[in-house]
Amino acid sequence: MIGIIGAMEVEVNAIIDMLENKKEKVIGPITFTLGTINGKDVVVAKCGIGKVFAAMCAESMIQNFELEYLLNVGVGGSLSKNLNVASIAISKSCVQHDMDTSPLGDPVGMISGINIIEIPASKAVVWKVEEAVKSLGLDYEIGVIASGDQFVNSSEKKEYICKTFNAIACEMEGAAIAQVAYVNKVPFCVIRAISDSADGSSHTEFFEFLKIAVDNSKHVIAKLIQ
Ligand code: SAH
Repeated sequence: MIGIIGAMEVEVNAIIDMLENKKEKVIGPITFTLGTINGKDVVVAKCGIGKVFAAMCAESMIQNFELEYLLNVGVGGSLSKNLNVASIAISKSCVQHDMDTSPLGDPVGMISGINIIEIPASKAVVWKVEEAVKSLGLDYEIGVIASGDQFVNSSEKKEYICKTFNAIACEMEGAAIAQVAYVNKVPFCVIRAISDSADGSSHTEFFEFLKIAVDNSKHVIAKLIQ
């Protein structure tokens, strides 16, 4: 089946609304909703905000369900001129912009243990997502998506993440889910509809554009699983 994780209720409910033959399975602190979209089995879960909740949810989903691939869907801040509100960022790879053991001689962002900075998404899944986004006629970009336990809300921080990691979008969960998927050898992709520009006005834009961004991410999932 296809696994789908979103951070916020609004993001996840948009997907759950599309499910047929719904049933819930509660495992520990996480409620998994099982069902079908166009006859295809999916399992959907809300992880909560930030990398720790995201990792918990991804590990539990992977251990308890037989996943063909894992998607992280939701909204994010734009770090790219090509991504305006409601455009779609697709992960070529994910980085954790707040991972930093550089005082010990490591490159900024390197995740010790797996010893890489960029966690590569599945090319096959990225391709499927790109086809879906294209056929919907939505603006999109494929690139590095950066996660950290911070809501990015300044031009300085935005520029730092963009320059250091060559990232196109920022959010708070994707690279944690990516790391869990990577170590478990499960193909993954992060799909984020842009809700804000991650600069000094991102906190007002976020609330203003959340709904339109969530709607677009839902359309992408519907098309992808068609
Ligand atoms: N207390 C709020 C926190 C939301 S945090 C709540 O519980 O709803 C913002 C969410 O949107 C995160 O899940 C993150 O992945 C995403 N996001 C959108 N814009 C972002 C930005 N500019 N910086 C970081 N994360 C962003």
